[in-house]
Amino acid sequence: MNAPNTDCPLCRRGPLRVLDAHAARCDACDLLVNLDTAPLDYAEGGGQAVPDAGKMRWRRENARGRFRLLEPWLAGVEVFVDIGCGSGEMLDVAAARFARVVGFDTNRPLIAHIRAAGRAVAIEGHFDAATLPPEATGKRTLFAASHVIEHLEQPLALVRQIAAAMKSGDLLYLEVPLFTGASFRKLGYRWSLWNREHLMLFSPQALAYVADHSGLATLAQGTRIFARGSHSTKTRLKLLARRPLDFVRTAFSKGRHSFADVMIADYGYLVLRKP
Ligand SMILES: [Zn+2]
Repeated sequence: MNAPNTDCPLCRRGPLRVLDAHAARCDACDLLVNLDTAPLDYAEGGGQAVPDAGKMRWRRENARGRFRLLEPWLAGVEVFVDIGCGSGEMLDVAAARFARVVGFDTNRPLIAHIRAAGRAVAIEGHFDAATLPPEATGKRTLFAASHVIEHLEQPLALVRQIAAAMKSGDLLYLEVPLFTGASFRKLGYRWSLWNREHLMLFSPQALAYVADHSGLATLAQGTRIFARGSHSTKTRLKLLARRPLDFVRTAFSKGRHSFADVMIADYGYLVLRKP
């Protein structure tokens, strides 16, 4: 266990309130800080290996789900830049729709895997706007960082770095794991997303703090889920049986989301635009 930082890694106000041996909470921005973490080298795979075909199919379906949420704002977008692109499923889906598709990741085996597929430009390393290929600059761009900032000691620093690289009208999609979702509420520290790679988990309030301090305008904030099977009829019936009132309320308000997106709500997302 690391000694708890006195300052919150998100809002820098402190001190954090230690809950137990595993976690500390920030009462100012509502972040849950992981005290179980250890330094990790992402270059040779870190938390992620090249996935098998079944996993990739499922991740592509998840990527399509993200673009469905983004649909209302995508008119005129020509370039997609995925920061922390992992095994590249967002890039795969984006390649069919945007003129230029670029991914950044520090994970060497995954970058090699994306380059071999040949659908996107894959840049090995941290995000750096100066390394974007010239044909991917000067056009309306959607940036994404999905399941990235919870890995960082200073999550807001990357968001601000991306914001600084954005032009007026460019979009940023952020997605993070939440400690307020059904899985963490049920499993606590046994949840697979409570692991040493994740330095923190967010709540909708903590995610709103990110939006409010990004320098960008918030177009949307919501919750979603992509565990395999979470959008199935079986899951839907289970949610109806267990939480009938919530289910009915969700039916009227869910919009483009599935019942599981709203009622399980393990991940939070933001859609931001540069004014
Ligand atoms: Zn805080």
